[in-house]
Amino acid sequence: MKLIRFGEIGKEKPGVQLENGTRLDVSAFGRDYNEDFFGTDGLEQLKKWLAGNESSCPKVNDSVRLGAPLVRPSKIVCVGLNYAKHAAESGMAVPKEPVLFFKATSAIVGPNDDVVIPKGSKKTDWEVELAVVIGKKASYVSEENALDHVAGYVLHNDYSERAFQIEREGQWVKGKSCDTFAPVGPFIATKDEIKDPNNLNLWLKLNGEKVQDSSTSDFIFNIQEVVSYISQFMSLLPGDIISTGTPFGVGLGFNPPKYLKAGDVVELGIEGLGSSKQTAKAYSGK
Ligand code: ZN
Repeated sequence: MKLIRFGEIGKEKPGVQLENGTRLDVSAFGRDYNEDFFGTDGLEQLKKWLAGNESSCPKVNDSVRLGAPLVRPSKIVCVGLNYAKHAAESGMAVPKEPVLFFKATSAIVGPNDDVVIPKGSKKTDWEVELAVVIGKKASYVSEENALDHVAGYVLHNDYSERAFQIEREGQWVKGKSCDTFAPVGPFIATKDEIKDPNNLNLWLKLNGEKVQDSSTSDFIFNIQEVVSYISQFMSLLPGDIISTGTPFGVGLGFNPPKYLKAGDVVELGIEGLGSSKQTAKAYSGK
């Protein structure tokens, strides 16, 4: 199943996208895609409900805005430097264990919303990433059981302000959490749709030119390792997002580095998870 949410910002409704691309409004099911939904068997219940009600679900026009395909979760946990070539282009060593950081959940936007270059930013950069959506609370889980705690997968652009991230004191969070820095979607593909999350092509284009083109088979730490590892330090709750790191080809790695300016168009995609597109916009004080 492919979960979507659609409508105006802040008023999104739940929907599904069918195999043929048709989008259906499933608000009559009565539940949005939040912690309670993922944690209390919502996916299975929705599937059963759809089997009897699909034909009466209103169609959603393609022109309707897509929101992030889940309600704002308790946290976004990101893995840094999870591809060897990206660690090298960032001038950092390949880590011995996963590097973790948080991204503010207030950064979440729809997959095709504008990305706002923050006030004072000169180094806004892109990062195509495979994100995992947690389906069942995970605390001290083994690698062997890690995928039992996963609901599905989603495309994420982990926008990053490199000066805020690296040149300011302390932690990476400052460069990762600006408003609009987490476009998520177009849809969550449930786990059954993705045969091997550790072997998916992912790519990103800047103004039509491909700058990232890799595969999650190049992960240093795969999905099972990452879910298990994070759960040794915190409980992952249903609906939480884990973003698994970006491959080679970010703006920071160009010589000279390349950063976003107003009007730039960023498109990205992952095999089986669709694509998204953001236009960069200058901060306007709103
Ligand atoms: Zn990242």
